[in-house]
Amino acid sequence: MSDTTPRLIATIAQLREELRTVRGAGRKIGLAPTMGALHEGRLSLVRAAKAECDCAVVSIFVNPSQFGPNEDLAKYPRTLDADLALLAGCGADLAFAPSNEEVYRAGHDTWVEVGSVAEPLEGVFRPGHFRGVTTVVLKLLNMVQPDAAYFGQKDYQQALAIRRMAADLDLPAAIRVCPTVRESDGLAMSSRNRYLSAAARQRALVLWKSLQLADKLVRQGECCAPAIATRMRELIETAEDARIDYVALVDPETLQPVETIAGRTLAALAVRIENTRLIDNCMLMAGG
Ligand code: AMP
Repeated sequence: MSDTTPRLIATIAQLREELRTVRGAGRKIGLAPTMGALHEGRLSLVRAAKAECDCAVVSIFVNPSQFGPNEDLAKYPRTLDADLALLAGCGADLAFAPSNEEVYRAGHDTWVEVGSVAEPLEGVFRPGHFRGVTTVVLKLLNMVQPDAAYFGQKDYQQALAIRRMAADLDLPAAIRVCPTVRESDGLAMSSRNRYLSAAARQRALVLWKSLQLADKLVRQGECCAPAIATRMRELIETAEDARIDYVALVDPETLQPVETIAGRTLAALAVRIENTRLIDNCMLMAGG
């Protein structure tokens, strides 16, 4: 593992120049797209890229088109120096941090819209979000042209929409999905956790506890999805000020609700604690 700060690149032209040499030497390229504010969850994608490929590229770009008008774009943390220091410790070779103008040049007017898997869950509460995500990810894939690109299971629906796009548009990169990285008490790592007060950070554990409850109920033989969802909601509502956007038990490929748990079922939830919107999910296995 190298401990050198990755080379910082701001333009597409410079990125292509660097990668031409890498590709010419027959080296495999891995891309981990991020919005910066790196933590162990996002860094795990870089580590996976470095483990599988010769050259790990990390993009750091807070993509305006995936934020709704009332979302936290303006206050989204931007911590480039700290990010570069963290990347040095996980073997990243190139950090690509373009400006908004470099990514969305004047007159940009083309968008990628994935169909039904982008509609439920986050699609209901964040209209236009996935259109912004898939557009920027396709652009990043075209800029970097990696052999493989790495995404987190934490954003399950996002990874599914990207897999759908890659299959439908015949993209050559392999799409890899890496497990959710959690704090030691189970809270899924997220840049938004830093908005929580210490007391709210404690209350936020109800997300993970409710997923664990669902897992326990399924292991005990409960297969009625609405009954499990009710128990999860009740547990979440024990946290003062928790506001549930959704608690859903869905087919992991279509994201359509299931009535009966049979085989693999995704439990997914979005909850606001102290006005910070947190999401999490886990896979339930009947008979597993
Ligand atoms: P973001 O910067 O929020 O776009 O996240 C960049 C990538 O890191 C996405 O593919 C996320 O799914 C992934 N990611 C974020 N948090 C975690 C986590 N706790 N564990 C694993 N991957 C994560």
